[in-house]
Amino acid sequence: MHDFFRAQGERDYRVAQVERWIYREGVNDFDAMTNLPVELRARLKAYAQISNPTVVHEIKSADGLTRKSLLRLADGETIETVLMLYDDAPRGRNVSPIRLYKRKTVCISTQVGCPIKCPFCATGQAGYIRNLTVGEIVAQVLHYARVAGALTNVVVMGMGEPFMQFDVTWRALETLCDPKRFALSARRITVSTSGEIPGIEKMARAKSQINLAVSLHAADDELRNVLVPLNRKYPLRALMRAVKAYSARTHRRVTFEYALMDNVNDQLEHARALAQMVKGMLCHVNLIPLNPTATEKFRRSPYARVKSFQKILQDAGIPTTLRVEKGIEIAAGCGMLRQHESPRHS
Ligand code: SAH
Ligand code: SF4
Repeated sequence: MHDFFRAQGERDYRVAQVERWIYREGVNDFDAMTNLPVELRARLKAYAQISNPTVVHEIKSADGLTRKSLLRLADGETIETVLMLYDDAPRGRNVSPIRLYKRKTVCISTQVGCPIKCPFCATGQAGYIRNLTVGEIVAQVLHYARVAGALTNVVVMGMGEPFMQFDVTWRALETLCDPKRFALSARRITVSTSGEIPGIEKMARAKSQINLAVSLHAADDELRNVLVPLNRKYPLRALMRAVKAYSARTHRRVTFEYALMDNVNDQLEHARALAQMVKGMLCHVNLIPLNPTATEKFRRSPYARVKSFQKILQDAGIPTTLRVEKGIEIAAGCGMLRQHESPRHS
């Protein structure tokens, strides 16, 4: 952008102004950039363009707090991106304008489909097509910044394994943290991996404030080989060693995700094995009651079992939370994203 502005004979601070409008204010139209001279706006309109992914389809949950968009990329492939609003908009209004919510989280994808193929995840079931580019990852946040104004949190928990292409994911996250662009605080960004150890090691070296989450779903290799097939390449002992090294170097607490599946990984002995494995680590366990996908093989654990599982971890002194459910009825919950519209919405 700097080269373009210099070629136009403009000073560098104009770039910062335009980037602020695009990335922070979500503005899509040069005419709305009111701190630029009218003449410059006209030139930008003539010579430049702000590109957008095409929105194929957008749906909202009944409470309006979760929105899911199917975005079409330049080569025709599509990805899903989710916006979650938390119910703390100013009170005393019947309808809260979307921009007024204090916490606005976007869940972004890094691949079209996913090569890891976890059998309980809709993205994994659908197969893998390709990696996204830095621009395509950032564009998802930009899309929602346009809808909702400046966003507060980003989770890399959509489609794909973000550390399969660490450098691309990382450049996208750096763009989000750049004070001149989205200016998001690194502490409000979380990236979730299914256990790609080289990515965890690179993140340790980066010494960033970005949060790391690791999808466990099982505390023994035999079961995890089935649930998260990447475990065959990076088994639990090596994974735990990498996570410990990460915490030792960064002093950051890691989140372990554990999706509870009826009679698969939700028994008391599973909870005890998990407690044993993570005890003493600088961590936090996030239990996710499984969201439904096309397969009947994996069902959500009954609530009582979720609570007993949580209690075992808590009694062992491990900080544990239950993930708040959002967007289940519009198939926007964890592990429900796919490349196509859900049939019932088409
Ligand atoms: N691919 C990355 C990040 C995306 S998934 C990863 O696997 O970590 C974000 C989280 O949702 C992961 O912990 C994932 O295992 C979990 N998940 C996948 N399918 C799910 C489902 N059907 N119900 C609940 N959580 C699921
Ligand atoms: Fe890929 Fe994550 Fe789904 Fe596994 S859970 S298939 S790693 S997106």
